[in-house]
Amino acid sequence: MGHIVNNQREYLLLQQRLDHNITGAPYSPIFIEILKLLFSAEEADLARQIPLRPTSIKTLARKLDMHIEQLRDKVSVMAEKGLVFDVEHKEECYVVLAPVVIGFFEFVFMRTRDEMPLKELAHLFEQYMFQDDRFAHSIFSETTQLGRSLVREEALPSGDYTEILDWEKASAVIYSAKTIGLSLCACRHKASHLGKSCNAPQKTCMTFHGSAQMLIKKGMAEEISCKDAMAVLEKCKEAGLAQIADNVQNHVGFICNCCGCCCGMLHSMKTFSMGHAVVTSNWLAQVDAEKCRGCNACIKACPLGAIVLEKKTQSTSTGRRAFCDEELCLGCGVCVAACKFNSIHMKPREKRVLVPENTFDRMISMAIERGKLSNFIFDDPSRLSHRALGRIAALLEKSSPVKAFLAIEPIKSVFLKSIVAGAKKFV
Ligand code: SF4
Ligand code: SF4
Ligand code: SF4
Repeated sequence: MGHIVNNQREYLLLQQRLDHNITGAPYSPIFIEILKLLFSAEEADLARQIPLRPTSIKTLARKLDMHIEQLRDKVSVMAEKGLVFDVEHKEECYVVLAPVVIGFFEFVFMRTRDEMPLKELAHLFEQYMFQDDRFAHSIFSETTQLGRSLVREEALPSGDYTEILDWEKASAVIYSAKTIGLSLCACRHKASHLGKSCNAPQKTCMTFHGSAQMLIKKGMAEEISCKDAMAVLEKCKEAGLAQIADNVQNHVGFICNCCGCCCGMLHSMKTFSMGHAVVTSNWLAQVDAEKCRGCNACIKACPLGAIVLEKKTQSTSTGRRAFCDEELCLGCGVCVAACKFNSIHMKPREKRVLVPENTFDRMISMAIERGKLSNFIFDDPSRLSHRALGRIAALLEKSSPVKAFLAIEPIKSVFLKSIVAGAKKFV
């Protein structure tokens, strides 16, 4: 590591490295500016050599021909800034390069920091994420997503309530968590630096289990009790925020409380017509045409603009009634609370939504769909024992999207189980 670092080249190589990540980081001069504000050239040079999967400091030091202590110090400075994750496991320290999302974008904006040029970063991230659809496309273009909508439990009719599973309930996720962290909402915090944050509360991002422990340890989250977390949830519901959770069944890692104006996921859905950037809940909003007074409250409340007013055949006070576009509806239940005339209810979707069992399955599914399976599993080319699996993955990735999808659907569980079993040995 004693070589001279060539600034521009190191940042370009880091961008390419980050683009290998499942959620991607397409090239743009603006993104290079963001990297220059976050990483020194020397850090960029080191970061681009950090694998996308957790690797022990010992192994990495050997690979980079560095002293362990020297590497540990550099990694811990970057981890403080939220640029890499470092975790202790069985008395060994592991490091992994943070993706852009969920990664260093959130870690930069989920706390207030005087030492960071947050205003400049907010403007650059805004341009990078929304001036065209390339970044949104690299994250959200496929079926398996990072986030899924949680229906408000109280919005469900009592008969259907029993059909809701624990991982679909915000309350059950909160009560099952051993550790809960509370941080600033990165999206609204970023919006505040752009002078356009809404009035919704900002301290609303909840993390659970290992994610919470890591953020608490790094000073990026405050540890709170289940009771406090339930109080935050209630406050968010009162503010009309929609709950979006980690798209897994077991060990849900986060619940976001999102507004339709500042939230990056919802904003992308509306701006770039990416209706599936967040996985829907298993319910849909349905307006009772007879009861609807056409008061507009649900339209204002829906974070996605999924409800419109249409002409009513029979005359009402306004002559109009609300209509929910089922293609757009996330099934969050925010509109049910907004309607004072009890004219909206949630009905179950005909086909239940598939949610990956755990984070590993979700990542593999996302990687397959985005053609990045080999980046994820075979990040370290020296692990030649993975060659056979690499061949399978490469063939799958080369298939046309339709063929890949058809191939993945029936073999998902069998193929994933074998790949996961093989890969887990090396994780
Ligand atoms: S996803 Fe939602 S809650 Fe999470 S940081 Fe963005 S707006 Fe805030
Ligand atoms: S119509 Fe809008 S507010 Fe109502 S459940 Fe659907 S997405 Fe949520
Ligand atoms: S809030 Fe209720 S009454 Fe008002 S437009 Fe919506 S469904 Fe109709």
